[in-house]
Amino acid sequence: MTALTSAVTSAASGTYQRLLEGRGELVALRRELHAMPELGFEERRTGARLVQALRACGVDEIHEGIGRTGLVAVVHGQPGTPAGSARLLGLRADMDALPLREQNDFAWKSGTPGLMHACGHDGHCAMLVGAARYLAQTRRFTGSAVLVFQPGEEGYGGAREMIADGLFDRFPVEAIYAMHNWPHLPPGKIGLNRGAMMAAADRVQINIQGRGGHGAHPHLSVDPVLIAGHIITAVQSLVSRNISPVDQAVVSLCAMQAGDAGAFSVIPELAQLTGTVRSFKPEVQQLLEERLTRMVESVALGFGASAKVDYQRLYPATINSAREADFAVRVSRWLVGAEHVDDELPPSMGSEDFAFMLQARPGAYLRLGQGGPCGLHQPRYDFNDEILPLGAALFASLVEQGLPLENP
Ligand SMILES: [Zn+2]
Ligand SMILES: [Zn+2]
Repeated sequence: MTALTSAVTSAASGTYQRLLEGRGELVALRRELHAMPELGFEERRTGARLVQALRACGVDEIHEGIGRTGLVAVVHGQPGTPAGSARLLGLRADMDALPLREQNDFAWKSGTPGLMHACGHDGHCAMLVGAARYLAQTRRFTGSAVLVFQPGEEGYGGAREMIADGLFDRFPVEAIYAMHNWPHLPPGKIGLNRGAMMAAADRVQINIQGRGGHGAHPHLSVDPVLIAGHIITAVQSLVSRNISPVDQAVVSLCAMQAGDAGAFSVIPELAQLTGTVRSFKPEVQQLLEERLTRMVESVALGFGASAKVDYQRLYPATINSAREADFAVRVSRWLVGAEHVDDELPPSMGSEDFAFMLQARPGAYLRLGQGGPCGLHQPRYDFNDEILPLGAALFASLVEQGLPLENP
Protein backbone atom coordinates (compact mmCIF):
# COMPACT_ATOMS: atom_id res chain seq x y z
CA MET A 1 0.00 0.00 0.00
CA THR A 2 1.45 3.37 -0.98
CA ALA A 3 1.43 6.34 1.36
CA LEU A 4 -1.15 7.92 -0.89
CA THR A 5 -3.59 5.01 -0.59
CA SER A 6 -3.45 5.38 3.17
CA ALA A 7 -4.46 9.05 2.82
CA VAL A 8 -7.74 8.01 1.21
CA THR A 9 -10.62 7.62 3.65
CA SER A 10 -12.51 4.35 4.01
CA ALA A 11 -15.65 6.08 2.67
CA ALA A 12 -13.82 6.88 -0.56
CA SER A 13 -11.81 3.68 -0.89
CA GLY A 14 -14.24 2.05 -3.36
CA THR A 15 -13.97 4.97 -5.78
CA TYR A 16 -10.23 5.25 -5.30
CA GLN A 17 -9.52 1.52 -5.69
CA ARG A 18 -11.42 1.42 -8.96
CA LEU A 19 -9.29 4.27 -10.31
CA LEU A 20 -6.15 2.71 -8.87
CA GLU A 21 -6.82 -0.43 -10.93
CA GLY A 22 -6.72 1.68 -14.11
CA ARG A 23 -3.58 3.47 -12.98
CA GLY A 24 -1.27 1.79 -15.52
CA GLU A 25 -3.22 3.10 -18.48
CA LEU A 26 -3.41 6.60 -17.04
CA VAL A 27 0.34 6.66 -16.44
CA ALA A 28 0.97 5.46 -20.00
CA LEU A 29 -1.33 8.16 -21.41
CA ARG A 30 0.23 10.84 -19.22
CA ARG A 31 3.73 9.94 -20.36
CA GLU A 32 2.65 9.79 -23.99
CA LEU A 33 1.25 13.32 -23.67
CA HIS A 34 4.42 14.44 -21.92
CA ALA A 35 6.51 13.23 -24.85
CA MET A 36 4.50 15.30 -27.37
CA PRO A 37 4.21 18.82 -25.92
CA GLU A 38 2.42 21.46 -27.96
CA LEU A 39 1.98 25.20 -27.40
CA GLY A 40 -1.34 26.99 -26.93
CA PHE A 41 -3.79 26.59 -29.84
CA GLU A 42 -1.46 24.07 -31.45
CA GLU A 43 -2.64 21.09 -29.37
CA ARG A 44 -3.71 19.04 -32.40
CA ARG A 45 -1.84 15.81 -31.69
CA THR A 46 -2.71 16.13 -28.02
CA GLY A 47 -6.38 16.66 -28.91
CA ALA A 48 -6.42 13.71 -31.30
CA ARG A 49 -4.83 11.44 -28.68
CA LEU A 50 -7.36 12.60 -26.07
CA VAL A 51 -10.28 11.98 -28.43
CA GLN A 52 -8.98 8.44 -28.99
CA ALA A 53 -8.66 7.87 -25.23
CA LEU A 54 -12.11 9.34 -24.51
CA ARG A 55 -13.76 7.17 -27.18
CA ALA A 56 -12.17 4.11 -25.60
CA CYS A 57 -13.59 5.24 -22.24
CA GLY A 58 -17.13 5.13 -23.60
CA VAL A 59 -18.05 8.79 -23.21
CA ASP A 60 -21.36 9.69 -24.90
CA GLU A 61 -20.39 12.78 -26.88
CA ILE A 62 -17.19 14.41 -28.09
CA HIS A 63 -17.20 17.94 -29.49
CA GLU A 64 -14.02 19.16 -31.14
CA GLY A 65 -12.81 22.57 -32.25
CA ILE A 66 -14.39 24.68 -29.49
CA GLY A 67 -12.07 27.65 -28.99
CA ARG A 68 -9.88 26.45 -31.88
CA THR A 69 -8.15 23.36 -30.41
CA GLY A 70 -10.40 22.91 -27.37
CA LEU A 71 -12.60 19.87 -26.93
CA VAL A 72 -15.51 18.79 -24.77
CA ALA A 73 -16.61 15.28 -23.81
CA VAL A 74 -20.00 14.58 -22.24
CA VAL A 75 -20.91 11.63 -20.03
CA HIS A 76 -24.60 11.17 -19.25
CA GLY A 77 -25.65 9.91 -15.87
CA GLN A 78 -28.89 8.10 -15.08
CA PRO A 79 -32.26 9.63 -15.90
CA GLY A 80 -33.25 10.34 -12.28
CA THR A 81 -35.96 12.95 -11.80
CA PRO A 82 -36.89 15.02 -14.89
CA ALA A 83 -35.43 18.13 -13.27
CA GLY A 84 -32.25 16.31 -12.31
CA SER A 85 -31.66 14.94 -15.79
CA ALA A 86 -31.13 18.39 -17.25
CA ARG A 87 -28.38 19.31 -14.81
CA LEU A 88 -24.85 19.80 -16.14
CA LEU A 89 -21.65 19.96 -14.15
CA GLY A 90 -18.30 20.99 -15.66
CA LEU A 91 -14.75 19.78 -15.06
CA ARG A 92 -11.79 21.41 -16.77
CA ALA A 93 -8.25 20.37 -17.65
CA ASP A 94 -5.71 22.42 -19.61
CA MET A 95 -3.72 20.92 -22.49
CA ASP A 96 -0.81 23.15 -23.49
CA ALA A 97 2.92 22.95 -22.83
CA LEU A 98 5.61 25.61 -22.47
CA PRO A 99 8.45 26.91 -24.63
CA LEU A 100 11.15 25.39 -22.45
CA ARG A 101 14.04 23.00 -23.09
CA GLU A 102 13.52 19.90 -20.95
CA GLN A 103 16.51 18.78 -18.90
CA ASN A 104 15.08 15.41 -17.84
CA ASP A 105 16.24 12.33 -19.63
CA PHE A 106 13.71 9.66 -18.76
CA ALA A 107 12.09 7.64 -21.54
CA TRP A 108 9.03 9.91 -21.82
CA LYS A 109 10.95 13.19 -22.06
CA SER A 110 9.85 15.77 -24.61
CA GLY A 111 10.24 14.62 -28.19
CA THR A 112 10.05 18.21 -29.43
CA PRO A 113 13.16 20.26 -28.70
CA GLY A 114 12.36 23.56 -27.02
CA LEU A 115 8.89 22.52 -25.85
CA MET A 116 8.03 20.86 -22.58
CA HIS A 117 5.11 19.95 -20.32
CA ALA A 118 6.61 21.84 -17.38
CA CYS A 119 3.31 22.77 -15.74
CA GLY A 120 1.79 19.29 -15.52
CA HIS A 121 -1.07 19.89 -17.94
CA ASP A 122 -0.28 16.41 -19.32
CA GLY A 123 -1.23 15.10 -15.87
CA HIS A 124 -4.39 17.22 -15.68
CA CYS A 125 -5.59 15.76 -19.01
CA ALA A 126 -4.83 12.19 -17.89
CA MET A 127 -6.72 12.74 -14.60
CA LEU A 128 -9.76 14.02 -16.49
CA VAL A 129 -9.63 11.02 -18.85
CA GLY A 130 -9.48 8.80 -15.75
CA ALA A 131 -12.59 10.52 -14.40
CA ALA A 132 -14.31 10.14 -17.79
CA ARG A 133 -13.71 6.40 -17.79
CA TYR A 134 -14.89 5.99 -14.20
CA LEU A 135 -18.03 8.06 -14.81
CA ALA A 136 -18.85 6.26 -18.07
CA GLN A 137 -18.42 2.87 -16.39
CA THR A 138 -20.33 3.58 -13.19
CA ARG A 139 -22.85 6.34 -14.03
CA ARG A 140 -23.80 6.85 -10.41
CA PHE A 141 -25.05 10.39 -10.98
CA THR A 142 -27.90 12.20 -12.68
CA GLY A 143 -27.70 14.83 -15.41
CA SER A 144 -24.45 15.04 -17.37
CA ALA A 145 -20.77 15.60 -16.73
CA VAL A 146 -19.17 18.06 -19.15
CA LEU A 147 -15.43 17.47 -19.42
CA VAL A 148 -13.64 20.49 -20.84
CA PHE A 149 -10.15 20.09 -22.33
CA GLN A 150 -8.98 23.64 -22.70
CA PRO A 151 -6.20 24.87 -24.98
CA GLY A 152 -3.72 27.67 -24.37
CA GLU A 153 -3.69 28.24 -20.62
CA GLU A 154 -0.11 29.55 -20.55
CA GLY A 155 -0.87 33.15 -21.49
CA TYR A 156 -3.05 32.48 -24.53
CA GLY A 157 -6.45 32.95 -22.90
CA GLY A 158 -7.76 29.60 -24.13
CA ALA A 159 -10.58 29.64 -21.57
CA ARG A 160 -11.76 33.02 -22.87
CA GLU A 161 -11.57 31.66 -26.41
CA MET A 162 -13.73 28.63 -25.57
CA ILE A 163 -16.32 30.83 -23.84
CA ALA A 164 -16.38 33.22 -26.82
CA ASP A 165 -16.93 30.18 -29.01
CA GLY A 166 -20.11 29.33 -27.09
CA LEU A 167 -18.82 26.83 -24.52
CA PHE A 168 -21.37 27.75 -21.87
CA ASP A 169 -24.19 28.39 -24.36
CA ARG A 170 -23.81 24.86 -25.70
CA PHE A 171 -23.07 23.35 -22.28
CA PRO A 172 -24.77 25.53 -19.64
CA VAL A 173 -23.08 23.93 -16.62
CA GLU A 174 -24.37 24.97 -13.20
CA ALA A 175 -20.79 24.95 -11.87
CA ILE A 176 -17.30 24.15 -13.07
CA TYR A 177 -14.23 22.83 -11.25
CA ALA A 178 -10.54 22.71 -12.13
CA MET A 179 -7.48 21.50 -10.29
CA HIS A 180 -3.78 22.15 -10.65
CA ASN A 181 -0.95 19.98 -9.37
CA TRP A 182 1.05 21.83 -6.73
CA PRO A 183 4.66 20.88 -5.92
CA HIS A 184 4.57 22.89 -2.66
CA LEU A 185 1.92 20.57 -1.18
CA PRO A 186 2.77 16.92 -0.50
CA PRO A 187 0.96 14.19 -2.48
CA GLY A 188 -2.42 13.40 -0.96
CA LYS A 189 -3.05 16.97 0.20
CA ILE A 190 -5.64 19.28 -1.32
CA GLY A 191 -5.67 23.05 -0.92
CA LEU A 192 -8.20 25.72 -1.76
CA ASN A 193 -10.12 28.59 -0.21
CA ARG A 194 -13.55 30.21 -0.52
CA GLY A 195 -12.48 33.33 -2.40
CA ALA A 196 -9.43 34.66 -4.22
CA MET A 197 -7.10 31.86 -5.34
CA MET A 198 -4.97 33.72 -7.87
CA ALA A 199 -4.40 37.31 -8.90
CA ALA A 200 -5.32 39.30 -11.97
CA ALA A 201 -2.30 39.63 -14.24
CA ASP A 202 -1.62 42.73 -16.33
CA ARG A 203 1.28 43.40 -18.67
CA VAL A 204 2.89 46.83 -18.82
CA GLN A 205 5.18 48.14 -21.49
CA ILE A 206 6.66 51.62 -21.14
CA ASN A 207 8.41 53.42 -23.99
CA ILE A 208 10.40 56.49 -22.96
CA GLN A 209 11.28 58.79 -25.80
CA GLY A 210 14.28 61.02 -25.05
CA ARG A 211 16.86 62.68 -27.28
CA GLY A 212 20.14 60.92 -27.87
CA GLY A 213 23.50 62.57 -27.49
CA HIS A 214 27.13 62.35 -26.34
CA GLY A 215 27.71 61.17 -22.79
CA ALA A 216 30.11 64.10 -22.35
CA HIS A 217 27.42 66.63 -23.25
CA PRO A 218 24.28 65.45 -21.46
CA HIS A 219 22.85 68.98 -21.38
CA LEU A 220 22.33 68.71 -25.14
CA SER A 221 20.31 65.51 -24.78
CA VAL A 222 17.23 64.22 -22.94
CA ASP A 223 18.53 61.10 -21.21
CA PRO A 224 15.89 58.31 -21.21
CA VAL A 225 18.08 56.07 -19.00
CA LEU A 226 17.97 58.55 -16.14
CA ILE A 227 14.21 58.95 -16.61
CA ALA A 228 13.76 55.17 -16.59
CA GLY A 229 15.58 55.09 -13.24
CA HIS A 230 13.17 57.63 -11.76
CA ILE A 231 10.17 55.75 -13.16
CA ILE A 232 11.40 52.44 -11.74
CA THR A 233 11.64 54.01 -8.30
CA ALA A 234 8.44 56.06 -8.54
CA VAL A 235 6.15 53.18 -9.50
CA GLN A 236 7.09 51.37 -6.29
CA SER A 237 5.09 54.02 -4.41
CA LEU A 238 1.91 53.06 -6.26
CA VAL A 239 1.02 50.12 -4.04
CA SER A 240 2.45 51.47 -0.78
CA ARG A 241 0.81 54.91 -1.06
CA ASN A 242 -2.37 54.29 -3.08
CA ILE A 243 -3.67 50.87 -2.14
CA SER A 244 -5.12 50.04 1.24
CA PRO A 245 -2.63 47.92 3.20
CA VAL A 246 -5.28 45.23 3.63
CA ASP A 247 -5.59 44.76 -0.14
CA GLN A 248 -2.85 42.92 -1.98
CA ALA A 249 -1.13 44.14 -5.13
CA VAL A 250 2.28 43.94 -6.79
CA VAL A 251 4.01 46.15 -9.35
CA SER A 252 7.17 44.61 -10.83
CA LEU A 253 9.20 46.12 -13.64
CA CYS A 254 11.17 43.09 -14.74
CA ALA A 255 13.01 44.13 -17.88
CA MET A 256 14.81 47.24 -19.09
CA GLN A 257 16.23 47.92 -22.51
CA ALA A 258 18.20 51.05 -23.41
CA GLY A 259 21.30 51.86 -25.38
CA ASP A 260 24.05 49.44 -26.23
CA ALA A 261 25.98 47.63 -23.49
CA GLY A 262 29.27 48.57 -25.18
CA ALA A 263 28.44 52.21 -25.85
CA PHE A 264 29.91 53.86 -22.77
CA SER A 265 29.45 57.43 -24.00
CA VAL A 266 26.30 57.33 -26.08
CA ILE A 267 23.08 58.59 -24.52
CA PRO A 268 20.37 56.65 -26.30
CA GLU A 269 17.19 57.95 -27.79
CA LEU A 270 14.84 55.41 -26.25
CA ALA A 271 14.38 53.33 -23.12
CA GLN A 272 11.87 50.56 -22.67
CA LEU A 273 10.58 49.00 -19.45
CA THR A 274 8.44 45.88 -19.25
CA GLY A 275 6.68 44.50 -16.23
CA THR A 276 3.59 43.15 -14.60
CA VAL A 277 0.89 44.36 -12.21
CA ARG A 278 -0.97 41.86 -10.02
CA SER A 279 -4.10 42.51 -7.97
CA PHE A 280 -7.30 40.84 -6.77
CA LYS A 281 -10.03 43.50 -6.72
CA PRO A 282 -11.22 45.13 -9.97
CA GLU A 283 -11.17 48.56 -8.30
CA VAL A 284 -7.53 48.07 -7.25
CA GLN A 285 -6.64 46.97 -10.78
CA GLN A 286 -8.40 50.03 -12.22
CA LEU A 287 -6.67 52.40 -9.81
CA LEU A 288 -3.23 50.94 -10.50
CA GLU A 289 -3.70 51.16 -14.25
CA GLU A 290 -4.74 54.83 -14.01
CA ARG A 291 -2.10 55.91 -11.49
CA LEU A 292 0.74 54.01 -13.14
CA THR A 293 -0.06 55.52 -16.53
CA ARG A 294 -0.34 59.03 -15.13
CA MET A 295 2.81 58.69 -13.05
CA VAL A 296 4.96 57.37 -15.89
CA GLU A 297 3.76 60.06 -18.30
CA SER A 298 4.22 62.81 -15.70
CA VAL A 299 7.71 61.75 -14.63
CA ALA A 300 8.83 61.68 -18.26
CA LEU A 301 7.21 65.06 -18.88
CA GLY A 302 8.99 66.54 -15.89
CA PHE A 303 12.31 65.61 -17.50
CA GLY A 304 11.32 67.07 -20.86
CA ALA A 305 10.71 63.66 -22.42
CA SER A 306 7.59 61.71 -23.27
CA ALA A 307 6.52 58.23 -22.29
CA LYS A 308 3.82 55.92 -23.62
CA VAL A 309 2.31 53.19 -21.50
CA ASP A 310 0.85 50.12 -23.14
CA TYR A 311 -1.23 48.50 -20.39
CA GLN A 312 -2.77 45.11 -21.18
CA ARG A 313 -5.09 43.20 -18.89
CA LEU A 314 -4.24 39.55 -19.46
CA TYR A 315 -6.16 37.44 -16.93
CA PRO A 316 -8.68 38.50 -14.28
CA ALA A 317 -8.37 37.25 -10.71
CA THR A 318 -9.33 33.60 -10.11
CA ILE A 319 -12.08 33.81 -7.51
CA ASN A 320 -13.78 30.69 -6.15
CA SER A 321 -17.47 31.12 -5.47
CA ALA A 322 -18.12 30.47 -1.78
CA ARG A 323 -20.85 27.84 -2.15
CA GLU A 324 -19.02 25.74 -4.75
CA ALA A 325 -15.69 26.07 -2.89
CA ASP A 326 -17.47 24.87 0.23
CA PHE A 327 -18.82 21.89 -1.68
CA ALA A 328 -15.34 21.14 -3.08
CA VAL A 329 -13.96 21.25 0.48
CA ARG A 330 -16.59 18.71 1.58
CA VAL A 331 -15.80 16.38 -1.34
CA SER A 332 -12.04 16.74 -0.69
CA ARG A 333 -12.50 15.91 3.00
CA TRP A 334 -14.64 12.92 2.06
CA LEU A 335 -11.81 11.74 -0.22
CA VAL A 336 -8.68 12.29 1.86
CA GLY A 337 -9.93 13.30 5.31
CA ALA A 338 -10.08 16.76 6.87
CA GLU A 339 -6.45 16.54 8.05
CA HIS A 340 -5.28 16.48 4.42
CA VAL A 341 -7.39 19.41 3.24
CA ASP A 342 -6.23 23.00 3.70
CA ASP A 343 -9.42 24.99 3.14
CA GLU A 344 -7.76 28.30 3.93
CA LEU A 345 -4.98 28.14 1.39
CA PRO A 346 -3.48 31.64 0.99
CA PRO A 347 -3.98 33.14 -2.47
CA SER A 348 -1.09 33.28 -4.91
CA MET A 349 -0.05 36.35 -6.94
CA GLY A 350 0.27 34.05 -9.94
CA SER A 351 -2.58 33.88 -12.42
CA GLU A 352 -4.66 31.33 -14.27
CA ASP A 353 -7.09 31.67 -17.14
CA PHE A 354 -9.67 29.43 -15.45
CA ALA A 355 -10.51 32.88 -14.03
CA PHE A 356 -12.56 33.55 -17.18
CA MET A 357 -14.64 30.44 -16.55
CA LEU A 358 -15.20 31.47 -12.92
CA GLN A 359 -16.38 34.88 -14.13
CA ALA A 360 -18.96 33.14 -16.30
CA ARG A 361 -20.01 30.33 -13.98
CA PRO A 362 -19.80 29.51 -10.25
CA GLY A 363 -17.12 27.01 -9.37
CA ALA A 364 -13.79 26.39 -7.72
CA TYR A 365 -10.13 25.92 -8.48
CA LEU A 366 -8.27 23.43 -6.30
CA ARG A 367 -4.63 22.64 -5.79
CA LEU A 368 -3.67 19.01 -5.68
CA GLY A 369 -0.44 18.29 -3.81
CA GLN A 370 2.20 16.51 -5.84
CA GLY A 371 5.35 17.19 -3.86
CA GLY A 372 8.71 16.80 -5.52
CA PRO A 373 11.92 18.78 -5.56
CA CYS A 374 11.07 20.75 -8.68
CA GLY A 375 8.69 23.69 -9.06
CA LEU A 376 6.37 24.42 -11.98
CA HIS A 377 7.91 25.83 -15.16
CA GLN A 378 11.34 24.35 -14.32
CA PRO A 379 13.33 22.35 -16.89
CA ARG A 380 13.54 19.33 -14.57
CA TYR A 381 9.90 19.35 -13.51
CA ASP A 382 7.73 16.29 -14.08
CA PHE A 383 4.15 15.50 -13.12
CA ASN A 384 3.96 13.01 -10.26
CA ASP A 385 2.12 9.97 -11.65
CA GLU A 386 1.34 8.76 -8.14
CA ILE A 387 -1.44 11.36 -7.85
CA LEU A 388 -3.23 10.45 -11.12
CA PRO A 389 -5.83 8.13 -9.51
CA LEU A 390 -6.43 10.59 -6.67
CA GLY A 391 -7.00 13.53 -9.02
CA ALA A 392 -9.30 11.41 -11.18
CA ALA A 393 -11.19 10.30 -8.04
CA LEU A 394 -11.59 13.92 -6.97
CA PHE A 395 -12.91 14.95 -10.39
CA ALA A 396 -15.32 11.98 -10.47
CA SER A 397 -16.51 12.55 -6.90
CA LEU A 398 -17.32 16.19 -7.61
CA VAL A 399 -19.73 14.87 -10.25
CA GLU A 400 -21.18 12.02 -8.18
CA GLN A 401 -21.77 14.24 -5.17
CA GLY A 402 -22.66 17.37 -7.14
CA LEU A 403 -25.25 15.55 -9.26
CA PRO A 404 -26.45 12.88 -6.79
CA LEU A 405 -28.93 10.25 -7.96
CA GLU A 406 -31.26 10.92 -5.07
CA ASN A 407 -32.07 14.34 -3.79
CA PRO A 408 -30.87 14.63 -0.22
ZN1 LIG B 1 1.97 27.07 -16.02
ZN1 LIG C 1 -0.44 25.20 -15.29
